[in-house]
Amino acid sequence: RSKEQGRGRWRKFDPMLRAAAERQRQIETDVLRAIEAGELEAWFQPQVCLHTHTVLGFEALVRWHHPTLGFIAPPEIVQAAHAIHSSDRLTGAVTDAACTLLRALPDMGLPNATVAINVSPREFALYSVSEMLAAKVARHGIRPNLLEIEITEEALLDTVIAGAQLKQLEQSGFTLAVDDFGAGHSSLTRLIDLKVDRLKIDRGIISGLERSDRNRAIISALIRLGEALSMSMLAEGVETESEAETLRTLGCWMGQGYLFARPMPMPRIASWLREHGEKQGAVSRVVA
Ligand code: C2E
Ligand code: MG
Ligand code: MG
Ligand code: MG
Repeated sequence: RSKEQGRGRWRKFDPMLRAAAERQRQIETDVLRAIEAGELEAWFQPQVCLHTHTVLGFEALVRWHHPTLGFIAPPEIVQAAHAIHSSDRLTGAVTDAACTLLRALPDMGLPNATVAINVSPREFALYSVSEMLAAKVARHGIRPNLLEIEITEEALLDTVIAGAQLKQLEQSGFTLAVDDFGAGHSSLTRLIDLKVDRLKIDRGIISGLERSDRNRAIISALIRLGEALSMSMLAEGVETESEAETLRTLGCWMGQGYLFARPMPMPRIASWLREHGEKQGAVSRVVA
């Protein structure tokens, strides 16, 4: 009887599964053309000092508005590019956009701001990420320390395939950040070995921080870890002023999140910076 029920359930979900599979197949069919046509874009989210709101950098986040399917979530894009063995094209396109922004930032008054890109853990097995990125920064004439490579704890733990390339990235002088830190299981030894520059504390720990003794304790401990290993800490997904205030109290001074800005397309950055600077000016005049 349970077998029948099981089969019945399967049948009921079958059209949904089929639709999901078709959607995935369509995304896989279209993603490479979309990358080549410039239909995929990188949007950029500012990273700020929690005390002064000075802009310290940006994170590049892929965006794709598909002609018939509409908005495609970044993890779906990444998955599709991986499935058709084109992760290098996706990361390459985002890196080109990041380098273009890096070239423009000095004229916007931000000569030392970093721009971060995301590299998914499975990419390292498909192509030489370190060689591709080194070639990109050389071609764009960018100092590698201004390009920040966000990897996940999963990549950090893969000492065999990702390990050698991460070491190369570190030795080439790229800035390394561990993304979504606290969401998985990280090996402390690897953090030390690799000389990771920055930990990005996962949004899951930041959300509602002021009401969670547990999360505040975790963040205190992470901040002490960061100090001991000379890593900077950045809080992800800061949405409210009380989260920002709690982070400042705990000693975390870098943040990224909707409280400051949502990701934005490159042409909007200059005007956002102007408005942001004016707001900052107004705030410091009030404080002074
Ligand atoms: P992530 O790298 O942890 O990026 C941060 C995500 O949190 C982004 O979602 C961003 O829009 C979102 N976010 C930022 N501030 C807030 C906030 O205050 N509240 C909330 N609720 N969300 C906030 P997005 O752009 O949808 O990207 C999701 C994930 O997809 C990223 O997480 C990253 O893992 C992956 N991803 C995005 N772009 C790329 C890419 O170019 N390459 C690769 N490999 N992965 C990417
Ligand atoms: Mg990221
Ligand atoms: Mg380094
Ligand atoms: Mg993250």
